[in-house]
Order: sequence, then C-alpha cells, then structure tokens
Amino acid sequence: MRTDDYNLAGIGKKLTTKWVGSRLSFYESIDSTNMRAWQEAQKGAPHGTLIVADLQTSGRGRRGRSWESPAGVNIYFSLILRPDLVQDKASMLTITMAHSVSKALAGNTGIDCQIKWPNDIVVNGKKVCGILTEMGFNKDGGYYVVVGVGINVRPQHFAPELADKATSLEDEDGRLQKLSRSHLLAEIMDAFEADYDSLMVCQDLTGILESYNHMLINRNARVRVLDPKGEYEGESCGITKTGELLVETADGTMVQVYAGEVSVRGIYGYV
Ligand code: ATP
Repeated sequence: MRTDDYNLAGIGKKLTTKWVGSRLSFYESIDSTNMRAWQEAQKGAPHGTLIVADLQTSGRGRRGRSWESPAGVNIYFSLILRPDLVQDKASMLTITMAHSVSKALAGNTGIDCQIKWPNDIVVNGKKVCGILTEMGFNKDGGYYVVVGVGINVRPQHFAPELADKATSLEDEDGRLQKLSRSHLLAEIMDAFEADYDSLMVCQDLTGILESYNHMLINRNARVRVLDPKGEYEGESCGITKTGELLVETADGTMVQVYAGEVSVRGIYGYV
C-alpha cells in the first residue's frame, strides 16, 4: 500500500513546469514507459508529453538489457521530446537528463550524487538511476526522442546479480523515508526544463558542462573503456561540450569516447 501521493492528481499538483508534462499520463502498471511513449509519439503526441508509471513489467535498459521496476518504491518516467536540434546531437539529451536528475536528487536529498558517463547516477559507488534514450522518426522525416528514466527511491529487494551494484536513495540515507516521489519527479522536471532551454540556446552542453563535470565519477582517475573494438585504460578528463568523454591513454593520446556501444568502468569494478 503506497503512502505517498504518487498518482496522476498528486503529480499534476506538484508540476510547475512550463511545457514538460503539459500532457501527463500515469499508469499503475505498464510494460515499459519508453515503449508507451514511443507509441504515443508515433501517434503525434506533443513535445513535453510525460508518461509516468508505478510498476513496469518490461522495464528496459541499454542494448536490450532490462531495468528492474517493482511497484510502490521507485520512479519510472519517459518524456517525449521533439527537439530543435540536428539529429546527430540527440545524444546530448541523455547527458542533459543525467545532469538534471543528478542535480535535482542532490538538491532535494542532500545525498552526494555522481554521474557515471553517460547515463547512470551513482551514490556511494552504486547505481540509483538509469537513463535510456531512444529515437524515432515522424512520417514527415522529422525525429523525436524518448528519454526514459528509472530511479530507485525506497529500499527494495534487488536481484542477486544487482545486489552489490544497485541502491536506493533511502538505503543511502534512512532519513528520506518521507521523501515524496511526486515532489522529486516535479523537481527533476524543473531542472530538466532549465537544462533543456540551455541546450537549445547553446546547441551544445556549454551551459551545464562545468556542473556535469563536477559530478562526473572518476574524473581525473583511471578508467577502463569497454569498447567492442578493443578495451583500453586511461585517465578520464571530463566530457566535451558535445558530450564525448575525454580519456588520456598512456602514450598521451586524448581519445574522444562516443557513447553508443561503449561502457566505462572504474579500474576496480562497476565504478
Ligand atoms: P553500462 O555501465 O555497461 O554502460 P548501463 O549503465 O548503460 O551499463 P543500462 O542499460 O543503463 O546499463 O541499465 C541496465 C542495467 O542496469 C542492467 O543490466 C542491470 O545491470 C542494471 N539494473 C537493472 N535494474 C536496475 C535497478 N532497478 N537499479 C539499478 N540497476 C539496475
């Protein structure tokens, strides 16, 4: 039994954004908010359409992986965007959302949140949030983007293979028992609206660059780049204003790492 106001009315009341969530749906249970958003976008749903759920039966991660999505404890949402941005810059939306989520979580919980480039939020070395961005095309040739976010808020039973790399906000700070998911969601949307505006004005990540790099995990530390074409190690030097991770290898080469097929790890494990 849920004790917070995590429902259509509760979320609607908290939202103070100008255009994010101008169309809002809430599902007690859904296959995947990204899948539903994609279907809605195909049918012409407007920029800013927000789809929220309490439970996902087929929550998705990158590259066909799944996202554990039990009921009553977490936040799952997908946002439909029709950005005024050339298509090859769309990956900047993932970086932008990661920044907005991390900033809003830190600001509302006091927890030290870090970003594992490009799309995870990590607290004390464990993943608390994942972001999945997917692109689709309109019949007129334009494109839309669905940015999906899952955030672990309350303690829950994680599958054994996740137990040592996943956590929730409340697991990290027991004082967050009363944290309202609706409030947190609304704060994230506020942060995203501001960050998105900055992306549209600059047409790159200049406006959030310093703040993103400040929250970036392993900055100026050694990382291992899991590139399907060959793994390598180097020092992570932060992201560029177009969202690539800069990694300096042993011979002094500065490699620009593109997201997509690549994962980055700390030298001793997940982070
Ligand atoms: P990588 O670090 O390899 O790039 P990723 O962060 O891109 O991985 P995602 O696709 O974002 O991975 O997320 C899917 C993965 O996240 C799953 O394979 C699983 O390991 C982990 N995961 C699934 N559900 C949860 C959850 N509720 N909380 C934390 N981690 C989860």
